[in-house]
Amino acid sequence: MSLAVQPIDDSETINPEAVRRDFPIFSGSTQPRRFHYLDHAATTPKPSAVINSISDCYAQCYAPIHRGLYPMAEQATSNYEHARRTLQHFIGAASPDELVFTRSATEAINMVASGWLKPRLERGDVVWVSRMEHHSNYLPWQLVCQEQQAQLRFIELTEDGQLDLDGTPELFAERTKFIAITHVSNVLGTENPVATLCTTAREYGIPVLVDAAQSVSHIELDVAEMCCDFLAFSAHKMFGPTGIGLLYGRQERLAEMAPLQVGGGMVDSVGDGMEESRWAAIPARFEAGSPDMPGAVGFAAAADYLSSLGHERVHRHIVSLTRLAAQRLMRIDGIRLLPHAGLPASGIVSFTHHNMHPHDMAQIAGEAGVAIRAGHHCAQPLLRRLGLTATARASFSVYNDESDIDALIDAIISAQRVFCE
Ligand code: PLP
Repeated sequence: MSLAVQPIDDSETINPEAVRRDFPIFSGSTQPRRFHYLDHAATTPKPSAVINSISDCYAQCYAPIHRGLYPMAEQATSNYEHARRTLQHFIGAASPDELVFTRSATEAINMVASGWLKPRLERGDVVWVSRMEHHSNYLPWQLVCQEQQAQLRFIELTEDGQLDLDGTPELFAERTKFIAITHVSNVLGTENPVATLCTTAREYGIPVLVDAAQSVSHIELDVAEMCCDFLAFSAHKMFGPTGIGLLYGRQERLAEMAPLQVGGGMVDSVGDGMEESRWAAIPARFEAGSPDMPGAVGFAAAADYLSSLGHERVHRHIVSLTRLAAQRLMRIDGIRLLPHAGLPASGIVSFTHHNMHPHDMAQIAGEAGVAIRAGHHCAQPLLRRLGLTATARASFSVYNDESDIDALIDAIISAQRVFCE
C-alpha cells in the first residue's frame, strides 16, 4: 500500500475499455450481454483492486484493532491507520486525526448536526442549505433547527440551476450559525463554487460543511484549498465498499464536537454510576464500537485506484461523455433536460419527457440492459421547486463510452414507441 500513487500512464485520455476490464461485474461470466451501467450517482461497481484488498484482509490479516497485543492484531491496526493516512493524503488534510471513519456520508453529516451544531444553535439562529441538497444533507439540519427553534433557510437557484448567491444577501448575516452545501448536485450535476463560499464564510466566522458524495469520484478534493470546516463522503460512490464513509473535520472543530455514539473503543476511563467518563483522543472518540477495518482498507484501495487513473483525466472523460449524452438526449422529441448552465459540468444528466413517466423510461431502459435511475433522487425540496415529482437520471463513469450513450438513446426511443405511438 502506497500513500502517493502515480498515474498508470501519461496519456491525456482514458482508455475506457481497459479500465472496464478492472471491474469483474462487467465480465462475461456475470453478465449475459453488455451491461450499460449509468447509475454511478447512486453507487459504483468495484474494481478487483478493491475487492481483493478486502478479501485479503479477511483471508490474511483479520483481528480486532486498537486492542489486541498479538502480531496479527497489531498488523490489522496498522492497516486500518494506514488506510486513514492514505485518505488523509487523498483529500489534502493536515493530519490523519482530522479523519473519522463513519458508516456513510449520511452518518458523517448527522454527527456534525448533532454533535457540533446542536449544542451551539439557539432560538432564532439561521442555518443555510441549498435548494439542491440530497435529503442526507438536508434532514439532519432540519431536525436540529426544529429541536432548537432555529431557522433553516434555502440558498435558492437561478433559472439555469446554479446557486443564486446574489439573491441571498443575508447568507453571511449575524444570525447565520452554519452553512451546509453540496459540492455537486446529485440531480442537476451542478458543481457549486464551494471554495469561494467557504473562504468568504470563514472571513465571517461561519463554519461550512461540504457534502462531497457526488464529487469525490471525479474531482480532486483538497480540504485546505477548499477552506471547509467539515467534509463528508461515502466510499461506495468512489469504487469503494458499501458501509463505510468519512468525516473530515478541521482539528479545532472536531475538538469542539460531542460524540454521537458512545461505547467501546471511544473512551479512556469509564466512571462508576453517575461519575463522568473521559473520552478517548480524536479520532477514536468518534469511532465507537468495532471499526470496519476491511472496509477502511477497501476505501483506501479505492482512493489509490482513483489516483492511479488521475483525477483530471477521469473528470475530462466523464464530463465530455455526459455532454455528448445531453446533446443527443436533447434531440429526442419531448425530452427536456433539467436546468444547466450550458452543458453538464459533471457526470450527471437528468431529464423528463412530456409524454412518458421517468419510471417508464427507466424500466424500458433496464430491459434493454441500460441502468438509469428514476424518481426524486432524495431531493424532494429541489423537485418541488422545479414543479416535478420525478426525473430520469443517467450518470457516467470512467469506463463508459459512446456505445453506452447509443444504448441509452436507443432505449429512450424504444420507450417512446411503447408509450407515445
Ligand atoms: N449527498 C449526496 C449529494 C448524495 O448523492 C448522497 C447519496 O446519493 C448522499 C449525500 C448520501 O450518501 P450515503 O447514502 O452514501 O450516505
